[in-house]
Amino acid sequence: MKIKKELPAGTRLVAVSKYRPVAELQEAYDAGQRLFAESRPAEFAAKADALPGDIEWHFIGHLQTNKLKLVLPRATLIHSVDSIHLLEAIQQFAADNALIVNVLLEVHVGAEATKQGFPPQEVEELFADFPALSQRYPSIRFRGLMGMASHTDDIARIDSDFATLEELFNRIKAGICGGCTDRDGGCTALSDFTELSAGMSDDWHIALRHGSTLVRIGSAIFLR
Ligand SMILES: *Cc1c(COP(=O)(O)O)cnc(C)c1O
Repeated sequence: MKIKKELPAGTRLVAVSKYRPVAELQEAYDAGQRLFAESRPAEFAAKADALPGDIEWHFIGHLQTNKLKLVLPRATLIHSVDSIHLLEAIQQFAADNALIVNVLLEVHVGAEATKQGFPPQEVEELFADFPALSQRYPSIRFRGLMGMASHTDDIARIDSDFATLEELFNRIKAGICGGCTDRDGGCTALSDFTELSAGMSDDWHIALRHGSTLVRIGSAIFLR
């Protein structure tokens, strides 16, 4: 895949395959793609079950708590955790089913009021006391942040949205390490918080300038 060759080491291509038929995913798989993401629980589960077992599946859509059973057992990473209510439900489901669930918190950085996600300040407050956070959610691994830039042609605005996300990510990372007292035992919290999911078909070049480790690309791959 052409896009893959343009990504720096440390940034992975997440093929967003929502609405595409299984045959097209199989084609991408045959071309070497092993990381796919879906945004609807039932479609996610059906495709994950139909395709080869060595695919890594990420979930990137709005997740309702009554759909966790379709998603959590099959997903390596949930990009789109956007409320405390959802965190609580994931913790409960994970504990009941002996799962550890890897999540990114979705941050609202774009202009649209309709977009999902935590306000940046709320995320910062959550991580201000990381030991308390990880105690409250012992079955959840906080792996990083996800964000979507404003839907606009204004490159400066997109750039500033991703900059906001990157600064928040870096501040939290620094804060988690600062709060880690058990240095000899290794700062596991810090080593877990590594992923910044930013960039889609129209803006991934800009997201790369702001430290994206996961670009989520749909139409540029499947609607060539
Ligand atoms: C659909 C979707 C994408 C991919 O969008 P494209 O513009 O097709 O690349 C990325 N992230 C999320 C959350 C999506 O829902």
